[in-house]
Amino acid sequence: MKNKVILVILDGLNYETAIKRMGYMQHLVENNIADLYQVKAELPTLSRPLYEAILTGTAPYINGIVNNQVVRRSHERSIFHLAREKGLKTAAAAYYWISELYNKSPFDAISDREQADESQVIQYGKFYFEDTYPDSHLLIDGEILRRKVDPDFLLIHPMGIDDVGHRYGSETKEYHNKVTEVDTLLSKYIPLWIKEGYHIMITADHGMNAYANHGGIGADERIVPLWTIGACFKKMDVKEEIPQLMLAPIICRILNLAISDKMIDIDLTFCD
Ligand SMILES: [Zn+2]
Repeated sequence: MKNKVILVILDGLNYETAIKRMGYMQHLVENNIADLYQVKAELPTLSRPLYEAILTGTAPYINGIVNNQVVRRSHERSIFHLAREKGLKTAAAAYYWISELYNKSPFDAISDREQADESQVIQYGKFYFEDTYPDSHLLIDGEILRRKVDPDFLLIHPMGIDDVGHRYGSETKEYHNKVTEVDTLLSKYIPLWIKEGYHIMITADHGMNAYANHGGIGADERIVPLWTIGACFKKMDVKEEIPQLMLAPIICRILNLAISDKMIDIDLTFCD
């Protein structure tokens, strides 16, 4: 059977708040449905560099996306590229920077908000451009794509946690409550996705600190969670944090894609 992957990037979610405030996700862990890991983000802990790090498995000094102001298409081969080369279907419900990295740059809201073009790297996309775009709507955008186009690799990327973190900081009831709200939202979709046989990875690009920002090297900015769900995931025997650059090769392995020559060659056994 062909494996399909849904990757959820919860923008701005730090590990400490995730494990305290996400009761549904912990319920899956306690019942051996999900495995939970700590991921050490690449640096700097900024969104655009880390979208590229997660999706291409390359470090910022290699790929050149070293800050949020580098607005151009990626020069690397992302999971989307590798999937397309093998004839797999790709889709994303994500912030517009994802479209800028892999489809079209700069973003034009009118032509790029909704995309459906089989020749593109991300063939089907719904891209939002306001940081306040509701996570509830974004999750539905992703679910509509899943049902309509049945992608092999689907990226779902809500911004609400990051947005609240920038307004209030991570040590606030606003940030903590937002994280619980997203946990509840996920509980509406994860059971469906499990039933449909998806492999699911839920992580964050970077965390958030008490000063309402990220970009540095503090654990609250740098250490993020990773939950894995699905038949092919074996519990990884890791003592410390997983390097963020391992996410791309793990996804490639699940999708039965050869990794790019710049990705870390991981020595892990998943489904054959
Ligand atoms: Zn941010």
